[in-house]
Amino acid sequence: MIAKVEPLTTTRRLSGPFDYLPPPQPVGVGSVVRVPFGRQRLEGVVVELAEASDVPAEKLVRATDARAESVPAELVDLALWMAVEYCSTPARALSLVLPPRGRERTQLWAAATGADDGRRLTERQRALLARLPGPAGPDLAALRRLEGRGLVTIAPRAQRRAPRTNPAADRAVSLTAEQAAALDAVRGGGSHLLHGVTGSGKTEVYLRAAAETLAAGRGVIVLVPEIALTPQTVARFQARFGDTVALLHSALSEGERHDEWRRLRAGEARIAVGPRSAVFAPVADLGLVVVDEEHDASYKHEGDPRYDARRVAAERARRAGATLLAGSATPRPETWLALPHRRLPARVDSRPLPPVRILDMSGAQTPLHPLTRRALSAARKSIVLLNRRGWSNFLTCRSCGKVWECPQCEVALVLHRAEGVIACHHCGHRERVPDRCSACGSLAVARYGAGTERIEAELREALDVPVFRLDADTAATKDAVPELLARFHAAPAGLLLGTQMVAKGHDFPDVTLGVVLDADSTLRFPDFRAEERTFALIAQLAGRAGRGPAGGRVLVQTTWPHAPSIEAAARHDAEDFLAGELERRRALRYPPFADLIRIVASAEDAEPVRAAAEKVAEAVGTGISAASEVLGPAPLFRLRGRERRQVVVKTGERAVAVRAVGAAVEAAARDRALKDVAFSVDVDPQ
Ligand code: ADP
Ligand code: ZN
Ligand code: ZN
Repeated sequence: MIAKVEPLTTTRRLSGPFDYLPPPQPVGVGSVVRVPFGRQRLEGVVVELAEASDVPAEKLVRATDARAESVPAELVDLALWMAVEYCSTPARALSLVLPPRGRERTQLWAAATGADDGRRLTERQRALLARLPGPAGPDLAALRRLEGRGLVTIAPRAQRRAPRTNPAADRAVSLTAEQAAALDAVRGGGSHLLHGVTGSGKTEVYLRAAAETLAAGRGVIVLVPEIALTPQTVARFQARFGDTVALLHSALSEGERHDEWRRLRAGEARIAVGPRSAVFAPVADLGLVVVDEEHDASYKHEGDPRYDARRVAAERARRAGATLLAGSATPRPETWLALPHRRLPARVDSRPLPPVRILDMSGAQTPLHPLTRRALSAARKSIVLLNRRGWSNFLTCRSCGKVWECPQCEVALVLHRAEGVIACHHCGHRERVPDRCSACGSLAVARYGAGTERIEAELREALDVPVFRLDADTAATKDAVPELLARFHAAPAGLLLGTQMVAKGHDFPDVTLGVVLDADSTLRFPDFRAEERTFALIAQLAGRAGRGPAGGRVLVQTTWPHAPSIEAAARHDAEDFLAGELERRRALRYPPFADLIRIVASAEDAEPVRAAAEKVAEAVGTGISAASEVLGPAPLFRLRGRERRQVVVKTGERAVAVRAVGAAVEAAARDRALKDVAFSVDVDPQ
């Protein structure tokens, strides 16, 4: 027998699989083995078993050391599909589905046999027997003596390292008519979009669908955005299903991750809950995949392969014959067009959504509108969203006009006043705040724009309540986010200020005011998704306010009060927004009416990058039909000291274009003249 193995190498230049003799241990598709590869020994995944090989017998070498845990065969297939779909390599895709590192932790477990050898037991021995079954622990010696008498068995047993979670109380509710109708539709299988504002009862529908799936003997995957920002969903699944739920996310310790993965692989746990990588959970006989908050940007992976967990979830569900259930208050246009939708039109408690008022800031001199100031002073608890961290956007010299830029990235450096630095938000470069202009010596350095740090200072000055700032600067450590949210939650009065992190699924019933500052900041990005992002951000923030008996309201500051996305968000009208947005995208042939593939070539020097981008653009151009167009190459700003150029393919024939791009990039990667150029391919760039 021959094992066809994909060695886990990161290079693009090799294409496997390669033939090996199988290791001494039994192997199958998905086994993880070690193989000699060139001068290295690498881990590799068995992707196929074959009877014979084209490699002459004397040249075949043997794989060794199969790992105890293997990848389910269906996940091997899914990874190979992903490698093609995202113009990556099998090795890179397979490394996403590997069993996590780490070992089982075992303990000695003792159980009474129930036998009686007719001899007398001491007081202590009787007490010992009474506490069994249980871990042997410090009583091992005494238990061994009882084992010798046939009264006790002692055997090693896996000890679970369970992730820490916040327990929630489960509530038994009877479904509303809308929830029942949605569940009924989901029962029929296929793919569904559940569209309903926060609090409309979507999670209850997920929970019921999951329960029915388990009852039918099948497994469930539940995808959520970052766990730290949305702990409630996890807690509710655990409250209802207990240890049947396995949690998979990056904040787990190695041991916890190992144990949760193994519990799923062994079928001891049947529901996997986690962020995007949980789409690769080893759930056998998958019956349901839930994608909660399906609009969330965290579902897109930024490493290679640049997969989109929503698309992978749909593919995995399709292959398994499982039901796909996506839910959101602000669904993406793609999903809206692709999936039949079920609406949950109102909050379960029939509280109205908060009224939203748009404040025109064109020509304003200060970052806060007078009405915003007044409302903030009157509210006990409020949330303020400003999607820009730091003190000011950029520094410029009043006499010569110099703008302080990152030496690596061609972007303006942002002032962080508390730390006394100006920093690059792309590469992390930092330098001391200049006291004079390095070009002309002038002392007049002006700061433009306002970020969260500056607004925090202004609000602290203006208000009597404590201000909690939540952004990438204050949430540097893993525990910082839940801690800060908990403090805000517990405070009788307070203001939560931050970037888009404050608009995620938090549930603070006593928040009566939501404020969006500079709402058009996301609209200024030159990106066809700018409208969609702006709408989602405002609508999501509005969903945080007025969840309690006191009701609430929302203020939106913008210099562009009539932007369709802002107006629609102010009316809470997702359907109207989606209709207009889809029309616009159809006219411009943007997704979902065409697919985009973005190729970025980068290197330290400009010339090879230019040559590489030209070469790729030309090669792609010959591989596609009139259903596709090649845009570029176009220069991008320098990033981390690397020159970059991009080529974008807009296509109505996705599979053909993906193949053409894959071939073009592979050829360019093999070209010796371009050996210093790195390529990254992003199918469905965000
Ligand atoms: P969403 O996921 O859309 O935000 P949830 O499912 O979390 O909504 O529901 C919001 C709140 O309403 C929760 O506290 C939930 O327990 C409660 N709830 C959900 N469905 C019902 C129902 N049919 N009857 C009463 N309460 C419900
Ligand atoms: Zn100057
Ligand atoms: Zn930089």
